[in-house]
Amino acid sequence: MTSQFEMHNIRKTFGKFLALSLDNLEFDQKTYAVILGPSGSGKTTLLRIAAGLESPDTGSVVIGGKDVTALPSWKRSVGLVFQNYALYPHLTVYENIAMPMTVARYTNDYIKTHVHELLDVMELEGQENKYPKQLSGGQQQRVALARALIKKPAILLMDEPLSNLDARVRIDLRDYLKETQRKLGITAIHVTHDQEEAMALGDQIVILNKALVIQSGTPAEIYSKPKTLFAASFLGGINLISSELLPDLGIRKDFDALGVRIQDISLSMEKTNTDMIGKVINIQYLGYQYIVTLEFAGTRLRVRTDNLNGINENSEVGIYIDMAKIMLFRDGNRIPIEEEGLESPA
Ligand code: ATP
Repeated sequence: MTSQFEMHNIRKTFGKFLALSLDNLEFDQKTYAVILGPSGSGKTTLLRIAAGLESPDTGSVVIGGKDVTALPSWKRSVGLVFQNYALYPHLTVYENIAMPMTVARYTNDYIKTHVHELLDVMELEGQENKYPKQLSGGQQQRVALARALIKKPAILLMDEPLSNLDARVRIDLRDYLKETQRKLGITAIHVTHDQEEAMALGDQIVILNKALVIQSGTPAEIYSKPKTLFAASFLGGINLISSELLPDLGIRKDFDALGVRIQDISLSMEKTNTDMIGKVINIQYLGYQYIVTLEFAGTRLRVRTDNLNGINENSEVGIYIDMAKIMLFRDGNRIPIEEEGLESPA
């Protein structure tokens, strides 16, 4: 498969501040790529350099095999979607979507066909004469998405496109994004700080922290084999147990921490088969499962379970860690268990 998007040896500074430094980034055609990182990690800088809205100090940007580093945004085949929709308030839905084609002086018939095609994909038929303020946030973002796609760009670039929407709409719109990207066979790059959104949408996730790429891979790779403590904890749903407690678990103390995901611990009122006894301090009922928070040796642990089996707040419970699923970290890096001869650390 050929790369549709490449960045090589990119460096971007603002004064003395390093905002982005990356050696190599490549996304294949038809990939849904997600750039994930905390605030200030360089995500928007990466996207703006891809879009041609910001020039890198060094390095190159290649789209569809063509070096576009020196080209302004409007000469790159990119569609842009921003967090705040950025629609023209005085134009109708139809006029907003048509705008990139109107400016490029396409014929009215041609524009009409393409606008209606996208109104259909975005389920906005019947809304075309409304103004942005007459639409919900989710509808406005679908208009912005249609506008970004109307000229069939080589790459769709989206900066936090779902962050202004409430939780339910956000999840609905995730479906639109992924379905549209699949239907049109486009390469998408989506920037977010939300790990769940990244996991739900990405074929490939790139984790950024402090201007650097921490890890790139499929959601499954990043989730099950995070390279660093940062990647493991940023994806969430993990308990970190500090080194002092490791000998109690039969593990040498020369690791900084042990990580265990919330679904890889089970709890039982039966306490005879474990040395780990904890006290339940909180139970969150999520409708389809529970998140139990407990205290163990001065540390808080979270456990996800489908069934409480008689466990209440304040229960003393036995804690059973699935030792085959633990992660061990030293100097901020995950050490594969096999390397340490810890096949059965329990
Ligand atoms: P957020 O999620 O908060 O938007 P981000 O990961 O998108 O964060 P960037 O917007 O890429 O981060 O910014 C990376 C760093 O570069 C930040 O510390 C930011 O303050 C700095 N920065 C970005 N643009 C400029 C600028 N024009 N001038 C000076 N510093 C900037």
